[in-house]
Amino acid sequence: MVLAQLGGRITRALEQMSSLTEVDDDGKALTDCLNEIARALHQSGVPFKTICAMSSSIRRIVVNLDARTNDKRRIIHEAVFTELCNMLDSGKPSFTPTKGKPSVVLFVGLQGSGKTTSCTKYAYYHSRKGFKPSLVCADTSRAGAFDQLKQNARKLKIPYHGSYMESDPVKIAVEGVERLRKENSDLIIVDTSRRHKQEAALIEEKPDLVIFVIDGSIGQAAFDQAQAFKQSASVGAVIVTKLDGHAKGGGALSTAAATKSPVIFIGTGEHIDEFEVFDVKPFVSRLLGIGDLSGLVNKEIHDVMPTDQPTEFMQKLAEGTFTLRLLYKHSQNILNMGPIGQFFHGVPGFSSELMPKGYDKENRAKIKRYMTIMDSMTDEELDSTNPMLIMNESRISQIARRSGRLMKDVRDLLQEHKQTAKRWSKFNTNR
Ligand code: GDP
Repeated sequence: MVLAQLGGRITRALEQMSSLTEVDDDGKALTDCLNEIARALHQSGVPFKTICAMSSSIRRIVVNLDARTNDKRRIIHEAVFTELCNMLDSGKPSFTPTKGKPSVVLFVGLQGSGKTTSCTKYAYYHSRKGFKPSLVCADTSRAGAFDQLKQNARKLKIPYHGSYMESDPVKIAVEGVERLRKENSDLIIVDTSRRHKQEAALIEEKPDLVIFVIDGSIGQAAFDQAQAFKQSASVGAVIVTKLDGHAKGGGALSTAAATKSPVIFIGTGEHIDEFEVFDVKPFVSRLLGIGDLSGLVNKEIHDVMPTDQPTEFMQKLAEGTFTLRLLYKHSQNILNMGPIGQFFHGVPGFSSELMPKGYDKENRAKIKRYMTIMDSMTDEELDSTNPMLIMNESRISQIARRSGRLMKDVRDLLQEHKQTAKRWSKFNTNR
């Protein structure tokens, strides 16, 4: 993912500054750091004007710092985080579907932007949240459009509507909405043609939400598109696609934000689950390389975790009171989460070396193994912040025997716990 490369460069620039014994008063270290961040953002397609505004803002914060403050580094890190959040914050959508309350969502956008793919991903995302979505093909401009949508709907096992004979998209949409409403669908997703006139006629039918799909690979050029669609007051939300493997993704996101076009999802691949809720703070956290941890508040984790849990996990890590019991609770949540291989940095809460991305089945098996091992531990061991210290070889051998695992597995688990705690404490100190 190219955006991860952008994040990597920003993080490295910050780390280089942090590794200096002092952040100098003449500001050279800060200038070097900001220059490198600016270069990285520029290469990612972020407009020059936006980058300059961001750098000036950070400088203003730093200049106003009391010279005696010994927290300069943390403040600079925080300023970079805040400014990146401001740069990418596009606002909230005009409407959010509610389960059980029928709504109609219309997808518009240019040909090839990823509209049909995004309709399907959107349906899949909501079906996993308990909605009863359905798909309508109101694209009569392209032979094969209905077949594409039909195939997608069948894969998801959700109702669909379309016609091979009818050429009026409005007629198809109206009929489809009426029929699918009767069939109790609470989220009717209408895929439109790529023709502006037809889209306009469909918007006249007053859907609850019009989603504009932008191809993220076009970078800054997204600005004109976003601006034009923004002017058509009916567009309530934006999906930016193809943010995997395209160097200009940062540009597409920042320009969408500049026009205050609320980005609600991003497409990160061709597959149905390569689709993520766009929430600016967790997104920037991941960008800055704390993916393992910020993954907690990403994707659908909100659906399976009580809302206080991500905070508890992060808080305990920050306090240095990260125990195996917490890792156990966290593991349970991860297993409830559905596919876990899509996180940028492997599995949240675990290192990417031990839980590599793309090995969903193996990672799940590993997490289950760890949980079985923890089942054989005492309360004292589970509640210790440094269990490695209180377990000698004979105790490790006993736990391995009781849980039917190898001693190496027990050691791996202890190592993993230690690494996670260390990674976080390092991040916290750097801040
Ligand atoms: P439409 O013409 O706007 O309906 O576009 P399609 O949904 O047919 O998508 C056009 C192409 O973009 C297809 O090959 C999709 O597989 C691909 N595509 C859509 N979204 C993404 C994405 O997030 N990442 C990548 N890599 N490809 C995507």
